[in-house]
Amino acid sequence: MKKISVLSIVLLVLLSCSSDDTQSNSSNNEQANKLSVGVSANDLLSDTSFSSLVVELVYVEGFEPSETAVNNFVAFLEARTDKPNGITVEKRAIASPGQSPYSNEEITVIEDANRTLYNNNSQIAVWAFFADGESESNTDTGVVLGTAYRNTSFVIYQETIEDLTSGTFTNTTPILESTVITHEFGHILGLTNLGSALQSSHEDADHPKHCDVDSCLMYWQAETGGGAMGMISGGTIPQLDAQCIADLQANGGK
Ligand SMILES: [Zn+2]
Ligand SMILES: [Zn+2]
Repeated sequence: MKKISVLSIVLLVLLSCSSDDTQSNSSNNEQANKLSVGVSANDLLSDTSFSSLVVELVYVEGFEPSETAVNNFVAFLEARTDKPNGITVEKRAIASPGQSPYSNEEITVIEDANRTLYNNNSQIAVWAFFADGESESNTDTGVVLGTAYRNTSFVIYQETIEDLTSGTFTNTTPILESTVITHEFGHILGLTNLGSALQSSHEDADHPKHCDVDSCLMYWQAETGGGAMGMISGGTIPQLDAQCIADLQANGGK
């Protein structure tokens, strides 16, 4: 259990550190995409400020997410966000930054060096990075599969996911990829109690910013190695429970 709290602390530190990013000297447009996780939940969920959404999906060569996982991610966005002018994915590869294991700060620097899409008048932009190597926060008993670290940015540790799922009898890689991608994006949509206000009491007191329903996509174990493998053992991707969906709907989502 000790390692579990380490992972939770890592997430909290990440969330609390993201305001430091606003110190850089990029344009105002870019600054709008360098805020804390959860602050753009309403902009992403509703069509009030942005009627379309683009995902800039960048992966390290050799660590492209499966087409199934990308399709599942788009389906998740279409189900929960109100974007009448559409959701698109722009995908490309970059060479390995060669810095694994990655610290959260390194992940942020990689984004700043490679990200090209920021919010414009009516379109909100999201950065999704699929890393080689692993998180620096991994321990012998717990591995980090992904992290949401800014209001429109998340990283998926694709190599870690592939290592965990290789050699399984059925092809569980797309299931685990889909689980971690949608879990991290759930944080960016303000779950749980992270920008989309609780409509009922379901935040996990022991794992803040997570749902206390153990079958919900926003259960804390969905982003840690052993826990996520347990959650997908039935061969299906965990879904948001009714309480998490209610929080999103109350904040402009579907
Ligand atoms: Zn989480
Ligand atoms: Zn939930």
